[in-house]
Amino acid sequence: MNKVIAASAVVILFSQCNRKKEMTETETPEKVVAFDLSNIDSTVSPCENFYQYAVGNWMKNNPVPSTESRWSSFNILHKENQKKLESLILEANKKEDAHKGSDAQLIRDLYRSAMDSNLLEKKGITALKPLMEEISAVSSKEQLSSVIGKLKTIGVSTPVGLYVSRDDKNSEQYITTITQSGLTLPDRQYYISQEDKYKTIRTQYIEHINKMFELAGMVSRTSADKILAVETAIAKAQWDRTELREPEKNYNKMTLVQAQSKLRFVSLPAIIKELNMASFDTLIVGQPSYFEAMDKAVGALDLQSWKDYLLWKLIDGHAPWANKAFEDEHFKFFSTQLRGVKEKKPRLERVVEMIDGELGEPLGKLYVEKYFSAKSKEYMSQLIENLRSAYRVRIKNLTWMSAETKEKALKKLESFTYKIGYPDEWKDYTKLEVTPNDLLTNFMNITKYQMRFMLDRLDKPVDKKEWFMSPQTVNAYYNPNGNEVVFPAGILQPPFYHPDFDDAINYGGIGAVIGHEFTHGFDDKGSMSDWDGNLNNWWTDSDRKEFDALTGALAEQFDAYEPIAGMHVNGKMTLGENIADLGGLTLAYAALETKLAGKDVPEIDGFNWQQRFFLGWANIWKMTTTEEELRNRLNTDYHSPGEYRVLGPLVNLPQFHQAFGCTNQAMVKPDSSLIKIW
Ligand SMILES: [Zn+2]
Repeated sequence: MNKVIAASAVVILFSQCNRKKEMTETETPEKVVAFDLSNIDSTVSPCENFYQYAVGNWMKNNPVPSTESRWSSFNILHKENQKKLESLILEANKKEDAHKGSDAQLIRDLYRSAMDSNLLEKKGITALKPLMEEISAVSSKEQLSSVIGKLKTIGVSTPVGLYVSRDDKNSEQYITTITQSGLTLPDRQYYISQEDKYKTIRTQYIEHINKMFELAGMVSRTSADKILAVETAIAKAQWDRTELREPEKNYNKMTLVQAQSKLRFVSLPAIIKELNMASFDTLIVGQPSYFEAMDKAVGALDLQSWKDYLLWKLIDGHAPWANKAFEDEHFKFFSTQLRGVKEKKPRLERVVEMIDGELGEPLGKLYVEKYFSAKSKEYMSQLIENLRSAYRVRIKNLTWMSAETKEKALKKLESFTYKIGYPDEWKDYTKLEVTPNDLLTNFMNITKYQMRFMLDRLDKPVDKKEWFMSPQTVNAYYNPNGNEVVFPAGILQPPFYHPDFDDAINYGGIGAVIGHEFTHGFDDKGSMSDWDGNLNNWWTDSDRKEFDALTGALAEQFDAYEPIAGMHVNGKMTLGENIADLGGLTLAYAALETKLAGKDVPEIDGFNWQQRFFLGWANIWKMTTTEEELRNRLNTDYHSPGEYRVLGPLVNLPQFHQAFGCTNQAMVKPDSSLIKIW
């Protein structure tokens, strides 16, 4: 399913397709271990490879489970969270008297429609038939646009991405943005690269499309090649992910008339008409050259190819949940061949994840009532303010930044706002229609409903209370348009945080996460927005030059990492995240130092607080990954692999070198090349 993107600009902590228990009054306290010593591989020196040292044994003992493509602290916590959600869903399922439109009714009936396998076999893809017929009936290229518009209302990915979000240059208003979209494989590289690995995937992809069409009762041996040709044309027109990170380049405000004047075959007004939006004159075109090249491809390739492609996008978007045959075929290609997952999760687990994805807020409401304590909120506010103080001091002391720019950086720092736990106001789902009788129709109704939320913003004042993640999500984000950092309840649990953990582990975990999110406001991209959340250059030219030199060196450092033979980390694509990790750790360490100043902090398990801080950081990034998934991530993920999220910042930190007495080993860069940004 392609979920509605509510805000394109937010920067998340960790990308995933989607603890121990927080105590509630009725549960018996459970002993939680802040850092498990059995994770350590003591045959490796912390100064040679701190990642291997700190969590090497954990990695040996935790190969990727057969139902996963990656296994990490995030996955473990996610899985534990899913168990809680499962119990909430099963409870809702017992509520026969839940009234229509209530959270319990929506969850109960979505659950029932997904668990009844006899019903699913009987229904198959019946719900998609009307749209399939409509696509088949298209008789000219002019008619393609309105079909694209219809497919968008139910969340099907098409070559024209469209969303309504805050205007990057006027954060007090919403505006429509159109953006490149419409690929099925993870990245344009998968269509373009001539390396054998990608050629094999393309062959498997063609087989997969053919098989899915066969299951849908449309045997056509030639269309899969044509579909690949359409997607390859789209891929060639698209910008790469590094270019997509350049805010000014992706901000091309123009009138709808101007945008349309560059296009011959694609009709933006026809697409917009289907979306039933408030009328507007101006919009942002994300990637102008993409739209022109994609439009040319509509002209160059025959109508049947485009119809087959749209049919395919519809089937791919929904059929995986239709019945077992579709499900198995989808799993084989997308999970096994593309990501190295060997085995499907049990149905109940998949259904819980699906409900979490579809009805995140209604489910989240039940989640926080039962599992979130106000105590975490207090500790977090305190921690956030401590980090802000640490950042304040560090900005004042920077040697590379002028007084003029410092003043503005401090202004931006002071105007950061934060959200913790869950939204103050919940979205209204009471008018949503979900029944136990038809899963695919439920999907379409849910997406239409959420699309309405998003599109109807256009002529409304900006809703600053809105959340872009559900409260149970194990993640965090920075939103540049609101200059805000957001920490859902889901991440405020071990190994990131626990009220009983020693400060060193909490600061190396959630503390560094907070610092990471703060630093996004000052990374290569975030630093281009000001205190009001508007793209606006508040830097002097010479300060910007200094900053670019420092961050350029960090990009080079990461470019050298080679997780798969012949495949490197993309230092430029991952730059924002790497700056945030380096800055976040620096800030959290400084805040901890202040907090513990003058205190006699006892060692725990033979480690002093300085050492435990860094063990805490390594602990949250421990992970194992299948090779297929690693390849996918190196192409698509704006975050570096876990190992380099640990090694990359630490080789630059004298605080780390001192903590472990490292002098001239692999974990120590020569003084002259240490990178200190914040
Ligand atoms: Zn981040």
